[in-house]
Amino acid sequence: MEATVDPKAMRERLLRERADLEGTVTRIRERLAVPQRDSGGDIALADQHPADAASETEARELDLARLTMFEGKIELIDDALGRLDRGEYGRCVICGTAIPDERLELVPETPYCVEDAEREQQSSTR
Ligand SMILES: [Zn+2]
Repeated sequence: MEATVDPKAMRERLLRERADLEGTVTRIRERLAVPQRDSGGDIALADQHPADAASETEARELDLARLTMFEGKIELIDDALGRLDRGEYGRCVICGTAIPDERLELVPETPYCVEDAEREQQSSTR
């Protein structure tokens, strides 16, 4: 069965999502570009606010994790746009099965069918 998603509508949706992600990535990058208050040289400050320093480090780590995640998603979206261009969109890149419309609605950038997505997830979390 051929996928019934409208490629034009899907492209617009992917481009919108990509623009949103780009905006978020830019904001995170700007935040990370601000040098972290260094513990060296400013011992008094670090002594006064040890919790602040810790939470700032935590916030940066969180930002970095989110940055990696969002950049990964942008890559997936670019790949999906490429597949749209080639007329391959909506098929699993591993087994070639048509990805159900409901799944594409939920995760339009996915390159995998449900089974292969689960397999990929398992192999990447190990
Ligand atoms: Zn598959």
